Amino acid sequence: MKLKLLPSTFDQNGGYSPGQHLTTFLIDGRVALDAGSLAMAASESDRVLVRDIVLTHAHLDHIAGLPLFVDDLFASLTEPIRVHATREVFEVLERDVFNWSVYPRFSELNNENGPVLEYRLFTLGSEFSIGHLNFRSIPVDHKVPSSGFIIDDGNAAIAFSGDTSSSSAFWEKVNERDDLKAVLIECAFPDRMSALAEASHHLTPAILRAQLDLLKIDAEVCVINIKPMYRDEVINELAETIGRGFEIIEPIREYHF
Ligand SMILES: [Zn+2]
Repeated sequence: MKLKLLPSTFDQNGGYSPGQHLTTFLIDGRVALDAGSLAMAASESDRVLVRDIVLTHAHLDHIAGLPLFVDDLFASLTEPIRVHATREVFEVLERDVFNWSVYPRFSELNNENGPVLEYRLFTLGSEFSIGHLNFRSIPVDHKVPSSGFIIDDGNAAIAFSGDTSSSSAFWEKVNERDDLKAVLIECAFPDRMSALAEASHHLTPAILRAQLDLLKIDAEVCVINIKPMYRDEVINELAETIGRGFEIIEPIREYHF
């Protein structure tokens, strides 16, 4: 399985930088997991190949690129863009984003080939397939209804937390799969901001350290979704406290599992 984080911040020369404001991972170049930076950072081949988008939840940093992605492709689509989301996320998108005030309701629009946007609803905890990829949803503990996933391509499987705070349910499901190659887990804030992390249902290095005590299988730990303003601080704290090997997922680089 190939995994790539699309970039969402710039350096002083206009190139991409490692900070991650927005979340979009591409799986095998075809399926987008969240759409935060999808329109802004997708390559031309990504625009041709990606027609399925799986959403963890409806927060802006995970959906910001979705309306623009559909807009960019509107005239050229020969099949609809399929958004895989829970009913809660679907309702937020239709009510608050695709409401004609913020952006057009693409689910009601056709181009000359037919519909341009379709929803495929899943329930938290359920399983669904997109081509060769199987997704098992795991409800996680965030401020709004949110899903993590175990993603399996038939050869390799990884777990993905999305945004979450402490979640014993997530680790229970992860531990059921001793074949997992990696667990991608968020760590949004440094420890000094633990009050905000608690209020917004995110992790800090100290909380993540305690969460990793619940990890009973031998999988690589990959850290994602660090708030860009605190990136260096969080990475330093992780190195000091986490007590095991871990990797920070960087944009653009292709990870093979
Ligand atoms: Zn969130």
